[in-house]
Amino acid sequence: MTHSPLTDPRTAPALVRDGASSSTPGARRITACRSCGGADLAMVLDLGRQPIANALLSAEELDRPEPVFPLEVLVCEACGLAQVSETIPPDVLFNADYPYFSSFIPALLRHSREHALKLIAERDLGPADFVVEIASNDGYLLRNFVDAGIPALGIDPAAGPVEAAQAAGVPTECAFFGRETSRRLAAEGRRATVMLANNVLAHVTDINDFVAGFAILLADDGIAEFEFPYVRDLVETCAFDTIYHEHVFYHSLSALEPLFARHGLHLNDVWRLDIHGGSLRLRVSRTPGKSERLEALQAEERTLGIGQLAYYRDFGDRVAGIRMHLRSMLHAYRAQGKTIAAYGAAAKGATLLNYVDLAEGTIEFVVDRNTHKVGKWMPGVRLPIRDVAELGTARPDFLLILTWNFAKEIVEQQRAYHAAGGTFLCAIPTPQVLRPRARRPARAGTLSSPDPAKPRSPRTGLRTRPLEGAGTSNLPPAQPQGSPFDRLSG
Ligand SMILES: [Zn+2]
Repeated sequence: MTHSPLTDPRTAPALVRDGASSSTPGARRITACRSCGGADLAMVLDLGRQPIANALLSAEELDRPEPVFPLEVLVCEACGLAQVSETIPPDVLFNADYPYFSSFIPALLRHSREHALKLIAERDLGPADFVVEIASNDGYLLRNFVDAGIPALGIDPAAGPVEAAQAAGVPTECAFFGRETSRRLAAEGRRATVMLANNVLAHVTDINDFVAGFAILLADDGIAEFEFPYVRDLVETCAFDTIYHEHVFYHSLSALEPLFARHGLHLNDVWRLDIHGGSLRLRVSRTPGKSERLEALQAEERTLGIGQLAYYRDFGDRVAGIRMHLRSMLHAYRAQGKTIAAYGAAAKGATLLNYVDLAEGTIEFVVDRNTHKVGKWMPGVRLPIRDVAELGTARPDFLLILTWNFAKEIVEQQRAYHAAGGTFLCAIPTPQVLRPRARRPARAGTLSSPDPAKPRSPRTGLRTRPLEGAGTSNLPPAQPQGSPFDRLSG
């Protein structure tokens, strides 16, 4: 098997997949804000040309060129919404082999169950209610409602996870969501008392059609809740690797309020969550009225100036600093004959690896627990994805955790790797070594920090230490974020 040469995502021209150019029209650069239509869009970050971050390659695809597209973040000067510059057709972004099955992620399962049980108790949900979840994946969240005897329907465009949901007894339609789907369900007399949409509000290009779908399907006294990455956490923790073409939007309350208002929906409440590196859970309905929590967070956004260009001023420089630091560090380890692998064949890993652009062979392989990913290759950088058991046999000296949002869990699961002399690394918010906590009695995990005004718990709870050895004296100084994960508690 021959591998194509690595493509430099920042210099290579956009390629078209062989034989597929007619069925997969290319990307289109936006000329107006996808939400408000404003024409003044300012670029705040340029990550070069990148492949589709979730498009893992099969063995047959290795000999073909991959399409790459500019990956840039623009901010609308009218409404403040941050968004990627390119619109890529959904059939390119979300194909039938979409490998993401939420049920493989224990922390997400716990988080979802807590969310479902909270809603069932708070809203006193029962057989007369109807819970609709958009982007329901394999039913990991809805099954908690189904198990409680509450009528539920999932809607998701990915065939594989939809089949898994149906097999698990969670009614699910394979469809994109918007006005059309909502009108059809509403015409059948079905109105939702609860609508949920987790990690999809950032993904949908036609965001006005998407939000309009909620306005149509939601019962008059219903509520809709959305979870999505918070642009403030992205910028503060420099989590640039969560930027990829599939993540069209990087939301804030200030940019979302006019969007929902356009469709007759009001922001009612908000919770800050640690999941996915920093998210918001936002509740909206047809009824005006804000919680104190929501008003406090909106006041914070006004103070910070989120939505204005000045807020992003040094973001690009900090991202470039991580790239330089990580390259120096890993190339130095490699020059010393150390072996390096990576953990987590996730989209954020593809963004990071393609942007950092390491010398070929610096990282030997990527491990992942998801059996659907094992045996494939990371897009762009074309690193093979292997089973986590490979850590025990290949014993790489260093393991770069790409899925840093689950770093605590991964480090705990891979204690044997550490005990055998392996070293965990993490690149976000700044390149660093991670070590497992000393063993002590388990305590309940805290994924959410319900009051935005209170200090937040560190996301990983891991001990970290400054980089040492491996020629680090030649490395550029650490980024000025302070103690990496501790900073998140501020
Ligand atoms: Zn706008």
